Amino acid sequence: MSATDNPDATPATPPAGPVVTRFAPSPTGFLHIGGARTALFNLLFARHHGGTFRLRIEDTDRARSTQPAIDAILDGMRWLGLDWDGEEVYQFARADRHAAVAQEMVAAGHAYRCYLTPEELDAMRAAAQAAKKPLRIRSPWRDMGRERTDWPADKPYVVRLRAPTEGATTIHDRVQGEVTVQNAELDDLVLLRSDGTPTYMLAVVVDDHDMGVTHVIRGDDHLNNAFRQLPIYRAMGWAEPVYAHIPLIHGADGAKLSKRHGAVGIEAYRDDMGILPEALDNYLLRLGWGHGDDEIISRADATRWFDLAGVGKSPSRFDLKKLENLNGHYIRAADDARLADLVAAKLSLDHDDTRRSTLLAAMPALKPRAANVNELADGTAFLFATRPLGIDEAARPLLEGDAPALLARLHSALDAVHNWDTESTEAAVRQVAETAGVKLGQVAQPLRVALTGRKTSPGIFDVLVLLGREESLARIADQMTPHGA
Ligand code: GLU
Repeated sequence: MSATDNPDATPATPPAGPVVTRFAPSPTGFLHIGGARTALFNLLFARHHGGTFRLRIEDTDRARSTQPAIDAILDGMRWLGLDWDGEEVYQFARADRHAAVAQEMVAAGHAYRCYLTPEELDAMRAAAQAAKKPLRIRSPWRDMGRERTDWPADKPYVVRLRAPTEGATTIHDRVQGEVTVQNAELDDLVLLRSDGTPTYMLAVVVDDHDMGVTHVIRGDDHLNNAFRQLPIYRAMGWAEPVYAHIPLIHGADGAKLSKRHGAVGIEAYRDDMGILPEALDNYLLRLGWGHGDDEIISRADATRWFDLAGVGKSPSRFDLKKLENLNGHYIRAADDARLADLVAAKLSLDHDDTRRSTLLAAMPALKPRAANVNELADGTAFLFATRPLGIDEAARPLLEGDAPALLARLHSALDAVHNWDTESTEAAVRQVAETAGVKLGQVAQPLRVALTGRKTSPGIFDVLVLLGREESLARIADQMTPHGA
């Protein structure tokens, strides 16, 4: 069936008035990277249209919705710069409102009290199983009680939606295209449980309506829910939102992203992997949305360019290498003081001002080589190492053979340098190489090992300057005697 034939299709055009989007996470203990991307798309869409981006915490699962679980979401969103407008809405606190809507629907005949007992439901389930058919509850109470007021007083009941049974419902999804479901396939879902608490399906619709949400942009695992939620809008005569269901993120192996794939909570990217928020944002943006071949996209450009038409229909695969490449770019672009602070925090040097200024001075030399904050922190090890330096196993051979003699020559050449800067130290080291008749690298390698204990480091002349004259000469002197001698 095409949408044009179908009076029950969702609007292809958005409701009039300003755009309102929302991110509606259920607290699980962390902000999932899939959720972060959903939030980002909602934020960008709202900002692009000069609209509003709201946050709703779906905290109706009381066991999981602890304060730490909620804080993990709020912190993660703040860290990623996913700044929501206004106060966040807490779904559980609105239960009375949800229940009131359900009662309104009962009063208007769009919902009904269903007194099916657990045993009767079990029998229906068994019959459906025996017939190998999916269970669709058709409650005998659906058409029993429209005019009725003499409800059984002492029996528990649930409130069910009187869902349409004929025709079809079509959604013009901005990502999935036109999707149609026969109404006969939908059942009379429960709106209020027998203890009077609202179901998730009802709460989402009431909240979206009350928050004025015009565009529901969420994971495509919710596409089926949209067909169950729409009848509630229609029953209440509420403006229907535009839907955009975005494909889920898959792991590199093509399977839906799960804990098995490693980090799925964004705090692991921040705390364990040393990823910068702007890199993760940029990566998540590109994961499922494209603007030509652009890879590096600032928040300002993303806001200018973002549209739902650019969201792909197929699941995207998470690619850690790409994220690290982007992160390297953002590290090189980042302010030195900010990076020094991040490294200081990683190394627990927050309260050590001397070391902090050393870190700051080292950032320009370190950041071109680091793909993440961990590598940046690791690269600073030589700055704070104490003599005699521990030498990496792999670097030791570079201190053998001619090395001690070359280091002795370097020591005396560098000792004669007056202005301890990169130019003068470089001139001295080059002079030693020339006089010894060897290539610069043959001198620079043992020098690097003597100064840092490693085979790789920032540029050797930067290292000399960062360590300063006295420390450099002392470290060189430590390696001038052949080992084992
Ligand atoms: N709370 C739901 C979730 O975390 C999202 C509901 C929605 O976006 O409509 O998956």
